[in-house]
Amino acid sequence: MKKEILLINPRIGLTQSLTPHLGLAVLATRLEQAGHTVVTLDYSAEHSTPPLDECLRRYEPDFVGITGLTSGVGIVRRLISIIGRYNENIVVALGGPHATLYPEDLRAIADLDYIVQGEAEDRIADLVDAAVAGQFPEIVSCERPPIDKFPMPSFCSFHNFQNISVYPLLTSKGCPFNCSFCSVHKITSRAWRRRRIDDCIEEVSEARHYLPRLRHVRIIDDEPAVDRERFQLLLSRFAEARRGLSLEIVNLRAKDITQETLGLMREAGVFEVCFGVEHGNPTVFEHIEKGETLEDIARAAELVKSSGLFLRCCFIVGLPFDSYERTLESIEFAKKIKADFIHWNSFIPLRGTRAADWFSAHGRVFDTKEQFSLSGSGGFFVPEPCVETDDFKKEDRKKAYALALLETGSYVLTPRGLVEILRAMFRYELYASTLKSLVRQPGRIFKTLLRFRKAGLLSGYARRYFKGTFSQSSAGE
Ligand code: SF4
Repeated sequence: MKKEILLINPRIGLTQSLTPHLGLAVLATRLEQAGHTVVTLDYSAEHSTPPLDECLRRYEPDFVGITGLTSGVGIVRRLISIIGRYNENIVVALGGPHATLYPEDLRAIADLDYIVQGEAEDRIADLVDAAVAGQFPEIVSCERPPIDKFPMPSFCSFHNFQNISVYPLLTSKGCPFNCSFCSVHKITSRAWRRRRIDDCIEEVSEARHYLPRLRHVRIIDDEPAVDRERFQLLLSRFAEARRGLSLEIVNLRAKDITQETLGLMREAGVFEVCFGVEHGNPTVFEHIEKGETLEDIARAAELVKSSGLFLRCCFIVGLPFDSYERTLESIEFAKKIKADFIHWNSFIPLRGTRAADWFSAHGRVFDTKEQFSLSGSGGFFVPEPCVETDDFKKEDRKKAYALALLETGSYVLTPRGLVEILRAMFRYELYASTLKSLVRQPGRIFKTLLRFRKAGLLSGYARRYFKGTFSQSSAGE
């Protein structure tokens, strides 16, 4: 029987994304192929999406599928309760990384019917066909489907899909490395699965036909360069086919960066390189077991900077063996490699990771994992730490995190953010760092604008900045 289906990606906190949710677009394809009607509400990427209660009245769905990160579970709970209040007969399924890692945390949510673990693209149509509103949520575990059958994602189901300017491209899944804090092995696995390059290029060509504002492609693989030869071929093929599109690759490792690869990246329209550093103190870094060294990181940073590309890096505050003093070293390392943009994450002990086990044995784990940890995309924000040790207590972690943001200017200045900055300045007595940071902001804003201009996304970014800053954009509630 044909059903009306809503798929939802909630907006988390202050996040402002230009990238629509690929997983929901893939599910939409499968559901449309099965004859259902799908509307996708991506509150994270499309701020004109109407609030959920209005969409429920407008579309009268039989089934609602929601995706959720661990940091977004609070908003997911609120959305489910809105659906339940509107009509308790609507079947609600929740998937995504949090449902995969913590299914039992979700069992108590009233009005939730299914908790979907794993990659659901091969199961979703059957699930919708058989779905009934139940008393308690049922856990549905999905096998990992073969990636060569990856369907063409359907972004046409997205509210105002004509506004999409960034295309999320998946060329492979999984990562064979084993960083102590990372849960990728639980979500997409350590087995690296690759798509055919021809299929990836064809997908982008197809997208240009129905996305009139498309300017930029983002490769969102867990680790796209496991096979360097294939990665270089992918870059060459994209360079031939791109016709003005810019390219971004979000998850690289320092060891992937070579002179030759950087040359190919430039031809493919890449304007910045992003890789994970995680920590600049040798002891903390060594215990991550990244399979590379701080020297590898410094060498890769040097190569990127001398090639004229922007350098973006990810760091984590609060890993095992970290301390306030070691975070200061990490900040110095970040400055030394001259990264143009840094995402400072506050450590979250994700289930099934060695780092989480370490804190269970050597520290204390708080029930705050659902709090948002990435500040760089949404203004100045100091999250509640999820862990502490005797050597590195909660308040010191917050102070270290605030200092990292200030010293490296890793935030987008907004009126709301300015209040938070001043609060942190007085609370942690960070007067000199705060003043220095604010004085440097005009330069940072200029660099950020330049970055978006190179991606062809300046007007989209400006629109989102002003909407996010001066209005209470809908998070779906
Ligand atoms: S390289 Fe990246 S994806 Fe792979 S285990 Fe490390 S952090 Fe996770």
